[in-house]
Amino acid sequence: MRRPLRHIPIKHLQHETIDASGHEEVVFCHNKDAGLKAIIAIHNTVLGPALGGTRMWNYATEAEALNDVLRLSRGMTYKAAVSGLNLGGGKAVIWGDPNRDKSEALFRAFGRFINSLNGRYITAEDVGIDVNDMEYVLKETEFVTGVHQVHGGSGDPSPFTAYGVLQGLMAALTHKYGDEEVGKRSYAVQGVGHVGMEFVKLLHERGAKVFVTDINPALVQKAVDELGCEAVALEDIYDVDADVYSPCALGGTVNDKTIDRIKAKVICGAANNQLATNEIGDELARRGVLYAPDYAVNAGGLMNVSLEIDGYNRERAMRMMRTIYYNVGRIFEIAERDGIPTYKAADRMAEERIAAIGKLRLPHLGQSAPRFMGRRQS
Ligand code: NAD
Repeated sequence: MRRPLRHIPIKHLQHETIDASGHEEVVFCHNKDAGLKAIIAIHNTVLGPALGGTRMWNYATEAEALNDVLRLSRGMTYKAAVSGLNLGGGKAVIWGDPNRDKSEALFRAFGRFINSLNGRYITAEDVGIDVNDMEYVLKETEFVTGVHQVHGGSGDPSPFTAYGVLQGLMAALTHKYGDEEVGKRSYAVQGVGHVGMEFVKLLHERGAKVFVTDINPALVQKAVDELGCEAVALEDIYDVDADVYSPCALGGTVNDKTIDRIKAKVICGAANNQLATNEIGDELARRGVLYAPDYAVNAGGLMNVSLEIDGYNRERAMRMMRTIYYNVGRIFEIAERDGIPTYKAADRMAEERIAAIGKLRLPHLGQSAPRFMGRRQS
């Protein structure tokens, strides 16, 4: 007999943390048979259904999993809002070891929880999850993006993210130097993985001088051989005399140890959470270093999967990436208008949009939720 899936009332679990976070809804998912322990956090749906990936991670404690999902889902609200998308912010975490605990039953049980939210939350891939896992989720719910292309999915988002970063870069160059000519500048790119390598390709095509580093020497060699880059040692990337520092690997690399070493006058890259602290963002502004806020610059992946909702179209996706140029430019205008650092201006732009649309009093209703046109389920 099939056991019913139940939402555990959140009042018994970490409610103070959740209260303080300002989320609309947090759902704890538990299914003993499938070994599922997951949390879905819906931060804000003023602009539309909450879209955000599912992360699978072996958290040490439930509190750690909760903190992660609350933080990540809030970030998705800001990313969608600043990107002009009709989407809210949400995220899910599955508490488990992605190398050991995956099964069809686990993902199908999880899919049923997502389905029970009737489109208020739409999932996608994140750390520890791949397209095959999403195939199982898709068997239970249509509220999933990042599925295989045979089901109308959008495929690897990295080239789109890289193209979006290029748009953000051009907005930053225009603001800093008065022209958007990518090839006139030099770049220090940290990380030439999926997004970084595509981004370097775009820089190379435009004739730019590019320095690269990566913990994977084969990728560095590829960038040198095929894209004419100059390799630098891992730690030396901060000291490179380049116009732009482009973090495309890890978060937190602009910190109190690196800030004095970074010579670039522009920071623009794909990595999430590039600034170690807000104070670092304040200090960059004081020093006249233009920081292109990460979540606005790297929104290409989110934009790309969002198009799966009403029928994926590659051309539309590329057109959408170009809006990043205007979004990032608008953030710089707000920073100047209000005399604030760019990271704060990005938050302000997102909050202003949510407040303005919220005043229209058109709440997102479950039944008008995504149509998922052109999607074949299983
Ligand atoms: P990836 O894992 O393919 O690439 C990251 C690269 O960084 C790898 O080649 C890795 O070897 C390298 N790296 C790791 N630690 C390093 C270090 N200390 N110094 C130098 N290189 C190091 O990941 P990705 O998909 O290219 O994503 C890159 C960043 O962009 C991540 O922060 C990710 O969260 C963010 N991002 C990616 C997308 C996307 O569409 N893939 C969208 C938005 C944001």
